[in-house]
Amino acid sequence: MTPEPYRALRTSLSGFIPGHRLITDPLRLLTWGTDASFYRLVPAIVVVVEAENEVRQLLAACAQVAAPITFRAAGTSLSGQAITDSVLMLLGDGWRGCTVSPDAGTVALQPGVIGAAANARLARHGRKIGPDPASIDAAMIGGIAANNSSGMCCGTAQNSYHTLAGIRVVLADGTVLDTGDPASRAAFGERRPDLVHGLDALARGVRENAALAARIRHKFRMKNTTGYSLNALVDFEDPIDVLAHLMIGSEGTLGFISEITYRTVPEYSHKASALILFDDIETACRAVTCLSSAPVAAVELADRAALRSVEGKPGLPESIGALGPGGAALLVETRAADGTALAAQVAEVQKTLAGIHTAEPVRFSTDPQECARFWNVRKGMFPSVGAMRKLGTTVIIEDVAFPVQRLAEATLDLQQLLAAHGYPEAIIFGHALEGNLHFVFTQDFNVPAEIERYRGFMAAFCRLVVEKYDGSLKAEHGTGRNIAPFVELEWGAEAYALMRSIKRLFDPEDLLNPGVILNADPEAHLKHLKPLPACDPIVDQCIECGFCEPKCPSRGLTLSPRQRIAGWREIARLDHSGEDAPRAAELHQLYDYHGIDTCAGCGLCATACPVGIETGILIKALRGRRASPLAHRVADFVADHYGATTAGVRMGLGAANVLHGLIGTRAMQGSLDGLRKLSGGALPKWSPALARPAHFAPGRRDAIPRGVERVAYFPSCAARNMGAQRGRDGTDALPVVAERLFAKAGFGVLYPQPLAELCCGQPFESKGLAAAADRKSAELEGALREASEDGRLPIVFDTSPCAYRMKRYLGGRLAIQDSIEFIHDTVLPRVTVERKTTPVSIHPVCSVRKMGTVDRLEGIAGRCSAEVITVSEVLCCGFAGDKGFNRPELNEHALRHLKAALPARCSAGYSTSRTCEIGLSEYAGYPYESIIYLVDECAKPAVDRRQPAR
Ligand SMILES: Cc1cc2nc3c(=O)[nH]c(=O)nc-3n(C[C@H](O)[C@H](O)[C@H](O)COP(=O)(O)OP(=O)(O)OC[C@H]3O[C@@H](n4cnc5c(N)ncnc54)[C@H](O)[C@@H]3O)c2cc1C
Ligand code: SF4
Ligand code: SF4
Repeated sequence: MTPEPYRALRTSLSGFIPGHRLITDPLRLLTWGTDASFYRLVPAIVVVVEAENEVRQLLAACAQVAAPITFRAAGTSLSGQAITDSVLMLLGDGWRGCTVSPDAGTVALQPGVIGAAANARLARHGRKIGPDPASIDAAMIGGIAANNSSGMCCGTAQNSYHTLAGIRVVLADGTVLDTGDPASRAAFGERRPDLVHGLDALARGVRENAALAARIRHKFRMKNTTGYSLNALVDFEDPIDVLAHLMIGSEGTLGFISEITYRTVPEYSHKASALILFDDIETACRAVTCLSSAPVAAVELADRAALRSVEGKPGLPESIGALGPGGAALLVETRAADGTALAAQVAEVQKTLAGIHTAEPVRFSTDPQECARFWNVRKGMFPSVGAMRKLGTTVIIEDVAFPVQRLAEATLDLQQLLAAHGYPEAIIFGHALEGNLHFVFTQDFNVPAEIERYRGFMAAFCRLVVEKYDGSLKAEHGTGRNIAPFVELEWGAEAYALMRSIKRLFDPEDLLNPGVILNADPEAHLKHLKPLPACDPIVDQCIECGFCEPKCPSRGLTLSPRQRIAGWREIARLDHSGEDAPRAAELHQLYDYHGIDTCAGCGLCATACPVGIETGILIKALRGRRASPLAHRVADFVADHYGATTAGVRMGLGAANVLHGLIGTRAMQGSLDGLRKLSGGALPKWSPALARPAHFAPGRRDAIPRGVERVAYFPSCAARNMGAQRGRDGTDALPVVAERLFAKAGFGVLYPQPLAELCCGQPFESKGLAAAADRKSAELEGALREASEDGRLPIVFDTSPCAYRMKRYLGGRLAIQDSIEFIHDTVLPRVTVERKTTPVSIHPVCSVRKMGTVDRLEGIAGRCSAEVITVSEVLCCGFAGDKGFNRPELNEHALRHLKAALPARCSAGYSTSRTCEIGLSEYAGYPYESIIYLVDECAKPAVDRRQPAR
């Protein structure tokens, strides 16, 4: 961004938005500007807002220079409605407000709340929000409401429009209206009589036009997100209610939603699912018609191609393979408040289907795991096509609704149309009860002939849906840029003119997300297509959906996983084409910090990615490629002299501790922060929670008395060398405590040798030094084999990231247990635990999340304390081995919500990684240490056991 008017705009914005929230560097403009659609526009400036007043000022500043503005929530939109080449407004942390009413009948939500987080708050009341897009784990309330999103269960009855209880909006001129506040409603009439009278006149006009009113009612009996929510004009008489409901589905083109209050809906805990196979689509659709009056929450249809795309996935019956080419399936779910009601519903559904021929008998399952597998397979259908696509092509998901009674005919027509336009890989699935089908296909946008093919297909598809079925071209994903050229085709000239009048009333200057929903350009859907060039096989299958973003500790500081991939794609494109070398050089330079240095390498992105991408692996590979030959040689040297290196670290910790004792925390912090600043960040950060050197000497093998069970125990290098923080005098080193605890459970400890030289390889792996990492892992494997008598004895690690690394490295050759697993499964059953009454907080580190042992960690803590707090806002702490010293801003950013989420009465925290505990202690304001300390404190031997001599 530099050209006018954006230079002037930036200057005026800097009067009320701090510089770090005005993004103008080319890397973040490109990557933060990316959404999940197949369109690309690069914003001229990105502005992060924290409060409503900033939104108002920003709107005024944009109006002054006539700069269009686009609002963004999570950027998971698929139709091109969340992108811009002008001002992109993102939400900062200040928009996460969630207030549940006393009876949980309503919930007031700010637009930055993730849908799933709102549901997590409501779950304890047996309620949830109505809208249920498949993207709910990433999508935010602002986008869910502005797209009028819906999903498998909500139908039309529970979408944002129909569950809206109140809304607070900021209009283009800065006027704020809070529809739940009578004073605000009254003031609005005074301030914006033009809008109130204008909407009143439009609504009256529609009500007086019986044919138009009937058409609007007819079209909204189906799911429909094409154009504006014209049903507001027939459903409401008060212009303020009309306005409130027009905001739903307005895609940021009528104003900013700064809060929305939903009526909540029940969330039943008793569920049963059945995957029902049919020989042909007609029979499946006949079953749908019957099921429409049965007690079902969801009925998902999948055609044969969709089933083929997931055939062989765990949890699916093998009989799918035997279905003929015209076969289909329905995935049906029924939900009830209790088991008895559920059983009655299952019986009723089965009775409903009794007269319909199915490929095999209908069987419902109430096993949560089996049901989850069915639904996960269903959710994986879109990504499965994305993952199989040819490099460089795009995966497109379309979203259409037909009258449900014509679903079979429409599905067959769609199949034929896709085949006729050369999309043999296309699959069709969708929410059958609503007649809402999604079809997914891959498309090359790199050659003009392919764009022409897409043009031809879109024209034919839109005609089919509108002229033959009078269906909706977009049922739930929003109009965006993709269907904007076809809104008039679907709605007709009269309704389209009405939409234009609405836009003019709200936004006469056309500055709010122009080009979205209404677009006079008949080619708009073919412009600004996003390139998806090959950049690295590790991430080439990325569909830029954004599902990984909420997991990432660096999101909002530098880049999220999706943004790292989008950035690397552009760099690869420029490098490959040789185009614009100065821009390529600038992007490379920016990527070093934003992409590479500030990735924690935590791998949590993979836990949310529908195609299983771990962006951290790409980043570690780039670190390895970036490292100089000297750096690789230094790594080899360190690997070969590990004991001496860690002794050096211990000396450094000792020196820092002595100095800390001499000059005190404040002076230490002040001087070392100053030195770090002077060094331009080259010196590591000092933390008042820094570890002191550990004092630990491993016991002798022959010291374990005869008859005592043995365990091979590997204390990590951090556990061996980093002791408790200053102020925790008299605290034993972790291995000493672990030995003591294991003894209480009747185990003597054997250490792999030579212990001081051993390392799992994790510190090398995280720097991309794969060869040194694997060498250390191999050494450790040998030592563990010997100590464990070739795996006959249990092998226990005290540090979760190291356990995780070795588990992956060994691939099952030796069974490794993390301390959480060993304590939960083996130690606790053998000891007596005295429960504390004081609360404890725990932090499951990333590897614990990836190993799936969070429940067991919580279980251990729950045995030891009456109150256990896990802070759901904090996933990865961002300390990442040594990043907490070298890139401390990542740790600070990742833990910015920690302290506020901890109750003041809590003063003890527990985790399973010593380095992570340094940052956690600093930002919580009280020490975090290994969970082993807590268990040791509370545990007593269940029987009188002989203690092993040390
Ligand atoms: C894999 C995948 C599956 C999906 N499945 C579904 C599905 O099942 N059902 C469905 O409906 N959608 C689905 N979507 C599309 C999308 O995820 C949803 O529409 C989602 O609700 C968008 O929310 P968001 O937070 O990402 O909004 P964004 O994409 O950030 O924004 C959406 C629109 O809202 C506007 N907006 C954002 N915040 C505000 C605000 N505060 N005030 C006014 N306007 C605002 C934006 O300008 C934009 O036009 C899917 C997407 C993907 C990638
Ligand atoms: S890495 Fe996975 S989750 Fe993230 S944007 Fe790409 S496909 Fe989506
Ligand atoms: S590895 Fe962690 S820090 Fe890196 S991109 Fe993935 S989630 Fe973000």
